[in-house]
Amino acid sequence: MSRTVAFIGLGHMGAPMAANLVKAGHRVRGHDLVPDALDGATRTGVEPASSAVDAVADVEVVVTMLPMGCHVLDLYDTVLSAARPGTLLVDCSTIDVADARTAHERAAAAGMRALDAPVSGGVVGAEAATLTFMVGGGEAEFAEARPLLEAMGKKAVHCGGAGAGQAAKICNNMILGVSMIAVSEAFVLGESLGLSHQALYDVASTASGQCWALSVNCPVPGPVPTSPANSDYRPGFAASLMAKDLGLAANAVKAGGVQAELGLRAAELYAAYAERAGAAEDFSGIVRTIRDQSGE
Ligand code: NAD
Repeated sequence: MSRTVAFIGLGHMGAPMAANLVKAGHRVRGHDLVPDALDGATRTGVEPASSAVDAVADVEVVVTMLPMGCHVLDLYDTVLSAARPGTLLVDCSTIDVADARTAHERAAAAGMRALDAPVSGGVVGAEAATLTFMVGGGEAEFAEARPLLEAMGKKAVHCGGAGAGQAAKICNNMILGVSMIAVSEAFVLGESLGLSHQALYDVASTASGQCWALSVNCPVPGPVPTSPANSDYRPGFAASLMAKDLGLAANAVKAGGVQAELGLRAAELYAAYAERAGAAEDFSGIVRTIRDQSGE
């Protein structure tokens, strides 16, 4: 069934996601504060809207793909007074669990329905429509959004009520951040012991050290030819995004009084590393920092 959708935030992720909704036959009205972003999306069949109010005025579903929680909550203030009652709001941005829950509450108070639906898969997944969506909110809302999510991704998991999608995202990325540091430390330790990268890889990738950070995104060049380490750590998943997600995880760890020493330490290490590496380097490049700081 074709739907009318407003898509707000047409950046690296939002533009290809909106384009995939158009390809699947949906009518998409797009808005972005940056004129170039809006122009680019228009070339893929998105109808340009001059403001968020204009974009959401007469649609069934509003999808947002914005940088942070403050942007989503600010935008929701606008959307909630301009959209039709009952409109389904689907926020795909990665934001604080607490902000996501606030967004749900404000939507409900204004007579709207909401889902938090952050993604994994990066820009490549957004372009190829192979994203995974982690969704928080009601069953009925999830069922209604599912065809749209399937037009933009390959998998949508209903994780629970309000905020559960964001919770799943930061828990997963906390595992990823900690495991990338562990794999990187193991390679640098192996170097200091005279162990070749290939030998450590051949053992750990088929033993109990096996994990995605090792066997897909291997932080040293050689063993996995497609990993970013083989192309001078071009992302991939940018260091700055890992630092952001670990920061969100650290907020939740502290708010919940959770004993998560490795998660908190990973957030600190990635924050320091991302200050230098930013968005230009894959998060596996942290191995070089660990190597540089070793033997001091
Ligand atoms: P981006 O900065 O490229 O895009 C965000 C867009 O939102 C920008 O074009 C910006 O102009 C626009 N925007 C900001 N405030 C707005 C407003 N009030 N109204 C309209 N437009 C507004 O960021 P991105 O890489 O597309 O990431 C978006 C979200 O997806 C982030 O929360 C990020 O953490 C998450 N995410 C990104 C990736 C990735 O690989 N880039 C992967 C997974 C999740």
